[in-house]
Amino acid sequence: MSALTSVSGFPRIGRDRELKKVIEGYWKGKSSLDDVRATARQLRAEHWKLQADAGVDLIPSNDFSYYDQMLDTAILLNAIPERYRRLSFENPEDTLFAMGRGYQGPEGDVTALPMKKWFTTNYHYLVPEIDASTQIKLNSTKPFDEFNEAKAQGILTKPVLIGPYTFLKLARNPQAEELELDRGLVDAVSGVYAQIIRKFAELGALWVQLDEPYLVLDKEDGDTELFKALYSAILPARSAVAGKNVKVLLNTYFGNIADIYETVNLFGFDGVGLDLIEGRDENLAAIEQYGVAENTTIFAGVINGRNIWRNNYAQSLGLLDALKTKTGNVAVSTASSLLHVPFSTQGETGLKPEVLKHFAFAVEKLDELVDVAKLADADDTLRKESQALADNQALFDGSRVAPDQAVAKRLATLTDKDFVRQPARAERRKLQHEELGLPQLPTTTIGSFPQTREIRSMRAKARKGEIAQETYDAFIASQIDQVIARQEQIGLDVLVHGEFERNDMVEYFGQHLNGYLFTKNAWVQSYGTRCVKPPIVWGDVSRAEPITVRWSKYAQSRTKHVVKGMLTGPVTILNWSWPREDISNELQTQQLALAIRDEVLDLEAAGIKVIQIDEAALREKLPLRRSDWHKKYLDWAIPAFRLVHSAVKPTTQIHTHMCYSEFNDIIKDIDNMDADVISFEASRGDLVVLDAIHDAHFETEVGPGVYDIHSPRIPSTKELVERIHAILKKADAGRVWINPDCGLKTRGNEETWPSLTHMVEAAKTVRAELANDSQASRN
Ligand code: GLN
Ligand code: ZN
Repeated sequence: MSALTSVSGFPRIGRDRELKKVIEGYWKGKSSLDDVRATARQLRAEHWKLQADAGVDLIPSNDFSYYDQMLDTAILLNAIPERYRRLSFENPEDTLFAMGRGYQGPEGDVTALPMKKWFTTNYHYLVPEIDASTQIKLNSTKPFDEFNEAKAQGILTKPVLIGPYTFLKLARNPQAEELELDRGLVDAVSGVYAQIIRKFAELGALWVQLDEPYLVLDKEDGDTELFKALYSAILPARSAVAGKNVKVLLNTYFGNIADIYETVNLFGFDGVGLDLIEGRDENLAAIEQYGVAENTTIFAGVINGRNIWRNNYAQSLGLLDALKTKTGNVAVSTASSLLHVPFSTQGETGLKPEVLKHFAFAVEKLDELVDVAKLADADDTLRKESQALADNQALFDGSRVAPDQAVAKRLATLTDKDFVRQPARAERRKLQHEELGLPQLPTTTIGSFPQTREIRSMRAKARKGEIAQETYDAFIASQIDQVIARQEQIGLDVLVHGEFERNDMVEYFGQHLNGYLFTKNAWVQSYGTRCVKPPIVWGDVSRAEPITVRWSKYAQSRTKHVVKGMLTGPVTILNWSWPREDISNELQTQQLALAIRDEVLDLEAAGIKVIQIDEAALREKLPLRRSDWHKKYLDWAIPAFRLVHSAVKPTTQIHTHMCYSEFNDIIKDIDNMDADVISFEASRGDLVVLDAIHDAHFETEVGPGVYDIHSPRIPSTKELVERIHAILKKADAGRVWINPDCGLKTRGNEETWPSLTHMVEAAKTVRAELANDSQASRN
């Protein structure tokens, strides 16, 4: 018998994004809720069967979600704010979607819950909201229904839930602040989880998995007590039903739990899931120090749920062998949910077999899991005879890709000066203001404009060679003409070309870089029904040709206003690609920085005066443990950004953009990127970052997003004026820009133009107020 195998979670969007398509169809009125439910059921059945056929022992259920698992957990616990209940929809799915994406229609007008990045991934979760009136209770049968559904299919699954600790640590009050965790709330939440465990015991589940990724973060005062309070109330429920015991797997991932391992171990969980990829050394050291409780099975997370390269079996076996010297109870597991990798390599016909053999997506990882578990129990002789092991070893013999000597040479000649822009910011600022002549509170957008069906279809046709290049180019030019004219018309100050030629802000760049590979269908869920398709870093990277110059230059030639050039920064390109595992992220980022630096200088030479270098994903990969922030990340990520723009003229204004506003704690590092202007997401949530900016004497000008682009609702001018007032209470008007939260490509024109018109009107209104005020104070 080989070791128990366990999958923490499986992608739910479907092999061909079936779930996305049916749900978006429902939103557009093209499919019914019954269609949505039927597709969902079909996908669950298919995914369970795939795992069963692969021979996985513990197959997850309740890892399915229409939108997000945190949102599901909020609904499960009845944390549904009053404003969503009031919409009084007939179907619970509609309430769920309103919480996820906002709602504007006959039932009312509400914004969505805030959305944040899920730990260090590009997946976004919805932030549950809890206030004094929230009545925590078991409010849904979803986990039980899905368990029964699989059971009817002949598969006894392991239900998966977000654990209570993670839920409470990530939930917020209506002011977006951390919760005051009083006894009543903690008891109520643990009570519901105990009820769930009992119910699963009754239903005949053997295991329940509680995901507690928040345990891999640094502990604050009271955290360990909170964990203890929750689980001492929950664990007795395992055996509360006579004759029916259910085991509880405490699952952790994305890092190590060394600082609470001793406590966890004393609790005697039936299973403890440890990430042996991202938290390897610390987790192993903790086991070394405290041992493993007698009845606890360690679920060794050795199959990477975050990257798509083949598992190195020899390395995994080394880890498992080491663990087995500490405990006899070892199960083999994915290191995290497979939600964060694409579905399957099948169908990636664009990649040659000798390339494709280096990759494992979710479906292939199932086989790896089972292979590794079998090998883990084999003795040396059997391992020597194993063809699977020999084939796997051959993938790692160092012959995969040859190094690019020119790239290495260029990096070797860089000096400190290449990382510092001259002159200092205050001096540049004056020169830029003279050069650009913009009004106070200048208005702009983040770059992309709606990608209509027509645009997407033209791009697809051009890609497939169905239309001539000239036809496609003329089409893009006409789109640019239109978007420039419309931006002029509504009175925006700094214009953009609209990014119509780009399928994706990372893939588009990758396509013009040496060293990159692309997939056809390797989609990964990003938020709700949105998916991304990261390109793959295969070898050393360099710029193959100018990337954006042509269309930026064209757009600038169509207007007297300043047109902002749009680039993606090196840290983001890497963070939203599948990085190599054979060289460091630092080195890969430097290679990318040189490529984008070439592009910046070409744009400048082509007459572009404002260049935005998006670092939408910089915060995303900030290590979860504070002690790792600088040495494992910021110390090379921030200089890489500076390398990109350090050679521009003083009058060239460098912007950057980030898709979040949680950078209070790294404010100095953000300022050290030495951009002239930074825009960031700020409409879903508070503006505390502006206080931090103020306190830190932040020098970069700021554009806190004034409205949410992840939602189809149109903000009114009045609402936007109020938002700008709120911003100006915290920031100096001379340093503030007015822009939406993020790019507009996912939105429709019908909501985009009214929203932007209101935004410009709001900026003008406040400008006039400011002018009056200063007049009044002079008089
Ligand atoms: N310039 C990009 C756009 O507007 C930025 C997108 C992003 O930040 N994710 O689409
Ligand atoms: Zn953004």
